Amino acid sequence: MIPYGRQHINQADIDAVVNVLTSDWLTQGPMVPRFEEALAAYSQVPYAVAVNSATSALHIACLALGVGVGDSVWTVPNTFVASANCALYCGAQVDFVDIDAGTFNMSVDALTIKLQAAAVAGNLPKVVIPVHFAGQSCAMREIHALSKQYGFRIIEDASHAVGASYLEAPVGNCRFSDITIFSFHPVKIITTGEGGVALTKSQDLYERMQLLRSHGITRDARLMENKPDGAWYYEQVDLGFNYRMTDMQAALGVSQLQRLDEFIGKRRELAASYRQLLAPLALRMQQPIADANSSWHLMVVQLESATVERGAAFDFLRQQGIGVNVHYMPVYLQPYYRRLGFEPGYCPVAEEYYRKAISLPMYPQLTTEQMAYIVKTLGELLA
Ligand SMILES: *Cc1c(COP(=O)(O)O)cnc(C)c1O
Repeated sequence: MIPYGRQHINQADIDAVVNVLTSDWLTQGPMVPRFEEALAAYSQVPYAVAVNSATSALHIACLALGVGVGDSVWTVPNTFVASANCALYCGAQVDFVDIDAGTFNMSVDALTIKLQAAAVAGNLPKVVIPVHFAGQSCAMREIHALSKQYGFRIIEDASHAVGASYLEAPVGNCRFSDITIFSFHPVKIITTGEGGVALTKSQDLYERMQLLRSHGITRDARLMENKPDGAWYYEQVDLGFNYRMTDMQAALGVSQLQRLDEFIGKRRELAASYRQLLAPLALRMQQPIADANSSWHLMVVQLESATVERGAAFDFLRQQGIGVNVHYMPVYLQPYYRRLGFEPGYCPVAEEYYRKAISLPMYPQLTTEQMAYIVKTLGELLA
């Protein structure tokens, strides 16, 4: 089976992890800050807080922005559940903004209309979480302008968009947001096994997220309430978690980051070939926007055939050894969210998108022969 995604691990990655195993530190050693510095430099942003998953990063990002009971957080339905769950962890309410039928990203029009209604009703969101679906940035300039008008904060869920750019600058620079999140799960662009990071320009948000990552404990006298008793002294000044990344993971991350540009180059080549080869078939692809250069985490197509259903196409392609996948069922259709009161029909564009979506295999080692086979098989199915 050709998988839909796959990590790329080389000898340098293995050596980096083994070196940590034989060193003095397995966690909270020198590799975590090294990874953070490298990520911050790559993303052209001052601060990075590495954690054990993007889910944890989303959680502490919401908390750092003060999300709590009585607040509302908005995201899109076309995402992994973690983009919405982070609000619920904080005791806040979550709501969904429909996507754009072309880009599959948060629709700026839908957001604008929803904000106008919320302003009248007096229930504006505290935080909006746009998700850079498949690696293409949302229209961040426009969403940022709305945040100034309506007074909400922004967390970019860039789990798919490590290595992508927007307006010629790296996604992660937080030009149009308070915090940006990356994921390093193995199906994503670079991996640490499990892992994530929160990036920010704000020293205050950085310090708060550092505290929340590790039990709310600090050894920094500036952040303490009392005078240190001695050199051993630490204080718990907030209720945090153990969301720390290990040094093994960070070492893998540092090593992987050195190949990020190579991975992105390869993904962009593959995407260009796919788009050319798929153009004659009865399907639709993600519409590129001029401001963004995607990292191509996913290669999603929309089946536009009148006769072939997505479900049948999915089963057929799997039978032919092609590991297709589907991203995503609208989050609010998950049983847990249905129990919160969400009903089918809430975001019609995301539901229509979901009915037709298939993710084709996309990862740096995918060969020209494999792609030709995938396109030929899909072509025969749709003919
Ligand atoms: C993968 C993913 C996450 C969660 O990442 P983890 O590192 O597995 O916690 C969050 N949001 C999106 C959009 C993702 O794709």
